[in-house]
Amino acid sequence: MDPGRSGVVVVGAGIAGVACAGELLRAGVPVQIRERARATGGRMASRRFDGRPADLGAAYLTVSDPDFAEVVRGWQAAGLAREWTDTFVAYGGRGRREVRGPMRWAAPLGLRSLVEQLARALPVVVDRLVLGVEPGPAVDGAPCAAAVLAMPGPQAALLLDPALAAATEAVRRQRWSPTLAAVLRFRTRRWSDFRGAFVNDHPLLSLVCDDGDRRGDGAPVLVAHTTPEFAAGHLAQPTGAAPAVEAAVRDLLALPDPAEHVHVHRWTYARPTAGSDAGFHLDDDGIGLAGDVFGEPRVQTAWRSGRDLGRALARRLA
Ligand SMILES: Cc1cc2nc3c(=O)[nH]c(=O)nc-3n(C[C@H](O)[C@H](O)[C@H](O)COP(=O)(O)OP(=O)(O)OC[C@H]3O[C@@H](n4cnc5c(N)ncnc54)[C@H](O)[C@@H]3O)c2cc1C
Repeated sequence: MDPGRSGVVVVGAGIAGVACAGELLRAGVPVQIRERARATGGRMASRRFDGRPADLGAAYLTVSDPDFAEVVRGWQAAGLAREWTDTFVAYGGRGRREVRGPMRWAAPLGLRSLVEQLARALPVVVDRLVLGVEPGPAVDGAPCAAAVLAMPGPQAALLLDPALAAATEAVRRQRWSPTLAAVLRFRTRRWSDFRGAFVNDHPLLSLVCDDGDRRGDGAPVLVAHTTPEFAAGHLAQPTGAAPAVEAAVRDLLALPDPAEHVHVHRWTYARPTAGSDAGFHLDDDGIGLAGDVFGEPRVQTAWRSGRDLGRALARRLA
């Protein structure tokens, strides 16, 4: 399974790492993905509550790149992705109003299922925390032809030997902000019709989505994302934020009943606030970096970044 000296080790099985490895495999380059979590998906994370998945990370995906559109059509044909809505509401200084935007796509089984589908034919080792990437390059002491770090820069910085100066500098320039995502499960649906709500100028909330509508099963579940400022104050004890998030959601949507269960997930590195437009990073030390930091912080950007890095590496190693 080890890709050996002529192969590539991809660290991180989010959509960027999976797209990169897929491209390498198609080009005939030996590759292995190593993922510290028990499953693929990264920030396209879904967790099951009483058997039902709820999306804890990315809320939906949008599509403008024709190549990514083809991938999404493949998911749609497999019954994994569906068009959700182009209409959200926005709360803010002007009260509540409808806002039209791009079509937002959702996944009935959770967004994680989309990454799992792309990763199905790839050599992925899960539950495998990578500890170090050294000059050579080598990953955890084993030499390889190239190493790809497909993860937020602060996580990559923990792995990179400082002698890998170009990659170290590239991750040092990145800036990231945190978010808390709260899954609120209610006894019944008591909110007026909405699919998702952008919450502007709020001290605590930034987004609330109707997960039952998004998933298509009508379950009485909301998922709320907090502002980076609120999250920053609760990173040490995210579960302690549950009562405040629940109170803010009930206040916003005028919900009479409390939630039956609230689960809070911490994203220390949720979104990049400063990155690069380069698409990806690939240097003479054989280190690649890919992810949503290389453009608009979106699923599509991460996919394209991984795909393009995979192509560049395949050309280099041919
Ligand atoms: C709360 C939230 C809401 C979002 N909403 C949207 C949205 O509505 N629409 C949209 O398009 N995008 C959204 N995004 C962004 C979207 O989720 C990301 O752009 C995309 O999932 C990034 O994928 P990635 O592969 O670059 O990184 P990640 O998904 O972060 O993957 C990195 C992987 O690397 C692994 N890893 C890290 N360190 C190690 C190590 N040492 N060893 C092994 N593995 C390691 C991690 O476990 C992870 O699986 C949102 C993100 C968050 C957090």
